[in-house]
Amino acid sequence: MIICKSPLEIEKMRRGGLVIWELLNELKAMAVPGVSTYDLENAAEQRIAKSGAQPAFKGLYDYPCVLCTSINNEIVHGIPSRRRVLKEGDILKIDVGVKIDGFYSDSAVTVPVGKISPALEKLVRITEESLYSAIEKVKLGGRLGDVCAAVENYVRPHGYAVVRDFVGHGIGSQLHEDPKIPNYGTPGHGPLLKEGMVLAIEPMVNTGTYKTRILDDKWTAVTEDGGYSAHFEHCVVVTKNGPWILTKP
Ligand code: MG
Ligand code: MG
Repeated sequence: MIICKSPLEIEKMRRGGLVIWELLNELKAMAVPGVSTYDLENAAEQRIAKSGAQPAFKGLYDYPCVLCTSINNEIVHGIPSRRRVLKEGDILKIDVGVKIDGFYSDSAVTVPVGKISPALEKLVRITEESLYSAIEKVKLGGRLGDVCAAVENYVRPHGYAVVRDFVGHGIGSQLHEDPKIPNYGTPGHGPLLKEGMVLAIEPMVNTGTYKTRILDDKWTAVTEDGGYSAHFEHCVVVTKNGPWILTKP
């Protein structure tokens, strides 16, 4: 069941969304060669505590950290570690969620570490643009399939593949609610978009195969062929006036 949120509930998610936006900007600035993903985790944990929010991921399904930090061929759910030190030319995906007054917000970015190759620059740019092409489809009377299809249709002409094993999701008093939001679909199909629905839309885009594999840590999802992957995510609410991105000012 897809739960529509009240204006008061959306306001709570907005507050969390702005905490995440500021946090991600701080982490982006910190993500330079020589810094470990544990350094980022540590900074994030302190920053979230100071903001009065609670981390959303730590402890959920027994996940051990407040951030997911995934590098290069890692798609999502990379676990921060002192042994993972960023290198010039890496792409780092930072995914973070918080909870404020019982309501969740969730957002992710892909960050270039130092100077990255033109090919990776393009992957990152196209993936971010695909998120905005999907957000444009978030409107009253539209269908979820319009949003889902927008991502794949945007990236496919560039020869990229969308991940199928992981999807976006509804969000509210639970981090993961209905509906599931794949990054592919059929326009005109799926649930009608209604006022107050909040969608965590998150394109995961690979240079090679869409297929994935989970590492022995039981969390980190990587591309099966070792290709690169990029990821962006925003929480977007359906309003009378079109899409409202809660995780961006
Ligand atoms: Mg996320
Ligand atoms: Mg999410």
